[in-house]
Order: sequence, then structure tokens, then C-alpha cells
Amino acid sequence: MSVELPDVLIDGYRRFREEILPGKKELLEKLMHGHQKPWAMVITCSDSWAIPEVILGAGPGDLFVVRNVANMVPPPDEKESEIWAAIEFAIYRLQVPYLIIMGHDDCDGMKASLGRPPSEEREPFLRHWLTYLESGKLLADRSFSKIGYRRKSVVRANVVVQLERVRSHPLVYAATKTGRMTLLGMVYNSEGGLEFYDEEREEFLPVPLD
Ligand SMILES: [Zn+2]
Repeated sequence: MSVELPDVLIDGYRRFREEILPGKKELLEKLMHGHQKPWAMVITCSDSWAIPEVILGAGPGDLFVVRNVANMVPPPDEKESEIWAAIEFAIYRLQVPYLIIMGHDDCDGMKASLGRPPSEEREPFLRHWLTYLESGKLLADRSFSKIGYRRKSVVRANVVVQLERVRSHPLVYAATKTGRMTLLGMVYNSEGGLEFYDEEREEFLPVPLD
């Protein structure tokens, strides 16, 4: 049986070939031949509308991105090692100057965790994955309760937990300690604004545009 490709795929690919590729051909060829030098690694959520390249106005070669449900980094002793492998790749091989954990309001992963938990029978992997949000929930109640809206506070606390977790890797610790790399926590909020975590003030502030 032959594969029937959906129109949405064909149309999107046609737009890429006709409208985008001609203007980016030279850059893409350069990147393909080993000149990748992204300015940041971004660990962010898989939700289809919270796109880091769109939010940060980035193009090919700018960002080294890992996306998963609710932008999490599992503890290093857990079995999910692909995120840690990507972090090592970004720091040791690409020497990214920034590592960004980016969460977002109205996150569907967050809603799945704060609502009825996924069933063991139908979604065992999602159920397990969402247990990594528990530390974020605890921190939200402890340090971000003044936000007043639990889903928003857990989104922000979850970013802070991932920053702490990422920092526990010796490579990340050394890179930040020597100033070779900066860790940033960010949230794309429900008003379409971007917030960053101010570690001294222990709160999220709007990214200034002037
Ligand atoms: Zn999300």
C-alpha cells in the first residue's frame, strides 16, 4: 500500500522550497558543512504553539533546541539520558554561551499534571514523566505562591527546578562558574510577553525591550 502524504505536509514543504529555501540556501549549506555555532541551547516545551525560534526571532543555526512535555530535565540518575546527552553536546562540542530553560503559561503538560493524572494503563510513560513536575509543585507552594494562580506559579517554579537540576552537571557547573556559559530561566507568558528569572530577587521579570 502506497503512503498517502497529507496536503498540509506537501503545501508546507512547497512553501519551504519556493519561499524560504532560496533566501537561506547559502546559510543552510554553510551550517550543514560543520559551521554550526548556535548562540544558545534551549530546553523548552513540545506544545505546538510555543515555538522558541518564533519567540526569539531566531533562524537556522541560532538555537540548539530540545523540546519535551513541560520543558523538563529529569534527575541525572534517571533513565532518560537523551536530554543530558544533548546538554553535554551543546556545552562541550558547540560551546554555547547560553543555556535557556523556557517554560510557558497555559502549558498542556502542566494542565495534564494538575488535573486528573494520566492512567497507568493508557499513558504509562506520560504518567511517569509528569512525576518530574512534583518538585516544581512543591517549590511553587513554597516560593511562588504570591503569584496567586497555581498553574502560573508551577510553570515558573518548574523552570527554577530545571535550572537547579541542570547546574548539578559538572560540565554545566564549570561552564557557569568560569563565565563561559550563562544559565537563563524564561517564561513565555499568557500576554505574549517574555519573562526572565532574576536569581537575586528570586522572581520573574519582563524582558526589557529598551
Ligand atoms: Zn507546554
